[in-house]
Amino acid sequence: MYALTAAHLTRRATLSGLAATTVASRSSFAGEPEVVIIGAGACGLAAARTLIDRGRSVVVLEARNRIGGRALTDTATFSIPFDHGCSWLHTSNQNPWTPIAEDWGYTLHNHDNADEVVHVGDRLADDAELAAFGQAWDGLDGALAAAGRAGEDVSAASVSPRTEPWIWVAESWVGPMSMGKDLEDFSPKDWWSLASTAPNLMIKEGFGTLVARYGEGVPVSLATPARRVRWGGPGVTVETDTGTLRAKVAIITVPLGVLAAESIAFDPPLPGWKRDAIAGLPMGLLAKAPLKLDGETFGLPENGWLSYLTQSTEACYFLTRPFGFDLVIGFMGGRFAWDLTRAGDDVAIDFAKHALRSMLGADADKHVQGGAFTGWGRDPWSHGAYASAKPGSFDARAGIRRAVDDRLFFAGEACAGSFAETCGGAMRNGVDVAKDVDRLLG
Ligand SMILES: Cc1cc2nc3c(=O)[nH]c(=O)nc-3n(C[C@H](O)[C@H](O)[C@H](O)COP(=O)(O)OP(=O)(O)OC[C@H]3O[C@@H](n4cnc5c(N)ncnc54)[C@H](O)[C@@H]3O)c2cc1C
Repeated sequence: MYALTAAHLTRRATLSGLAATTVASRSSFAGEPEVVIIGAGACGLAAARTLIDRGRSVVVLEARNRIGGRALTDTATFSIPFDHGCSWLHTSNQNPWTPIAEDWGYTLHNHDNADEVVHVGDRLADDAELAAFGQAWDGLDGALAAAGRAGEDVSAASVSPRTEPWIWVAESWVGPMSMGKDLEDFSPKDWWSLASTAPNLMIKEGFGTLVARYGEGVPVSLATPARRVRWGGPGVTVETDTGTLRAKVAIITVPLGVLAAESIAFDPPLPGWKRDAIAGLPMGLLAKAPLKLDGETFGLPENGWLSYLTQSTEACYFLTRPFGFDLVIGFMGGRFAWDLTRAGDDVAIDFAKHALRSMLGADADKHVQGGAFTGWGRDPWSHGAYASAKPGSFDARAGIRRAVDDRLFFAGEACAGSFAETCGGAMRNGVDVAKDVDRLLG
């Protein structure tokens, strides 16, 4: 949830105890740390810093050649900071990243009550249409909230009022573009369990840069995927392409998509209840298609939203001109985003351009200098954007958090309770699990 916000959707660790080195790549492992952490995203980095601060020996294994995981700011493509993954500080007054961003002088913008432009074809929606949209929105939100409060672990689609025609716009925002799933694929109970999202802050310099800076100095073995975890004997043994590492405990922070794909083998296999929990929490997909403009603004607001009447959730809605940059960022989600990912970046970028043209006129393309499409759906180290419970599988949330044999600790955004799906939740969960492990080690 929570990629999209605003009108639509309803401590600090210190560097003490960390070596003042930059992230290093290691090709073999000397000694035997107490804890091996698999994954150097927000969760793994927070867990590592917490344990190191407590004097524990830690090695972090990271499959990619960078840290940050699903927090990634790209400044190369458009010479503008563009977050492929997380970009909003949701629930910012409880978000552990907020005080860090403030301390480090990041430029934050409260994005609640953003300006919103709604189209019907190539014209602006009139008052009656906007009122109908508002009603559809309230009807959907109310129905989901009532079912969620009542603990209905059913498909969210089954409680949607499905009042034509604006319901599809409301469903697109709530489902594909927030949960990364169509309403058929998540439950009101799971949706309701996730924290309220306001106040939401945007970060001009990029969320990814914040996480990367937080990870500076954490000892990480980059480009070192964990291939197999043996936990039959004492402690744990993790096999990688460049060596085998023994430790007392493992904290496994990889996205659930990686576990579902069985990219890490467990020997002996994980118990049935843990495998059920993984299967009960499939990854959703939120995809972004940033389009670089040539300076033309189309009269679109800075940090605004641009959406249009659709007949289904196969839609691309835009964040317009973030921080005044010459950029509009298209969002697609759910089944449609998986389809576009399979079809390829060019098809996805064309769809975003088509959506823009259909609203702003045939000439809109002339002002688009380039486009991109985020690849989380085909990324072997995430297999999607974030996880949520299938209808009927809400209990998987508890199962995924439970440790196996006090040796295999599972952590990450999916384990973050009401802050699940967010980078703040990932960090918070990393700290919590690290404290549990520290207590266990005595
Ligand atoms: C498109 C998109 C938009 C989002 N928007 C927001 C937002 O606006 N606000 C927000 O708060 N959150 C948002 N999120 C969610 C947020 O990015 C994640 O919840 C958070 O970054 C997850 O952190 P994590 O540490 O749990 O997992 P990750 O960041 O995925 O870290 C896990 C790490 O494990 C590594 N790994 C995987 N397999 C292996 C292996 N076999 N061996 C070793 N390492 C491995 C991965 O490479 C990765 O670095 C968004 C996510 C996406 C994809």
